[in-house]
Amino acid sequence: MFLWAWARELLGRNNGELQSLISIISAAAAGFHHSNSTSDRWSWELASNGQFNVKKLASLIDKKLLQSAGLASPETLRNNLVPKKIEILVWRLLKKRLPVRVELDKSSSDLNSVRCPICDDNIDSVEHTFLQYKYAAEVWARVYRWWKLDGINPCFNELCSGKTHDGTPASCGFKVWQAVQWVCVYTIWRNRNMTVFQNKGWGVPVSFNEIKVKSFEWISHRLKGRTLDWLVWLTNPSVYLDLV
Ligand SMILES: [Zn+2]
Repeated sequence: MFLWAWARELLGRNNGELQSLISIISAAAAGFHHSNSTSDRWSWELASNGQFNVKKLASLIDKKLLQSAGLASPETLRNNLVPKKIEILVWRLLKKRLPVRVELDKSSSDLNSVRCPICDDNIDSVEHTFLQYKYAAEVWARVYRWWKLDGINPCFNELCSGKTHDGTPASCGFKVWQAVQWVCVYTIWRNRNMTVFQNKGWGVPVSFNEIKVKSFEWISHRLKGRTLDWLVWLTNPSVYLDLV
């Protein structure tokens, strides 16, 4: 006999699932004798102490997602200032596991052309889509100017290395800047897909604006113990490079 203490009554499908769970457990429990049935308890096999834990479950799901995206060692590239989906996108970009036409062609999809579906000016590779295509180049240029880093060109390896260019571990300030670059990657990819599949892209000014707003939202939400100022963010964000 089971005693439940639900906050509210179970209805519909939930109730159906409970009934089938009870019948499974009853069938199993009927097979053996309990000497002390009051000490029975649920145990969650995914945790060593048997205690179910939502946070632990979330981290296991993240790990599985990264694994199924073919990303072997997710620990080497983390930036907890952006949503997980962006971390995954950056990983897939680095591993060239994004469905641009050149990569689709390698996996023998039947394509008419491997040329860029937007400008038709070049081969549709990750380099073209994320760096060279003039929309992407212009978005990057604006982001770098915004951060007062004029004249520096984005490059995949440094962008995603998780370390600063001199090899020192990333400081908090570096993580903020890296997160902005990742939001830029995400925005370029979204714009590309909207353009290709829905025939409506954002264009450079709207994309740039989206990057400023989203990066502020995501980063300030996740930056523990510190706050970002919206006006400073817009006008002089590079002061945040000094966060330690
Ligand atoms: Zn193109």
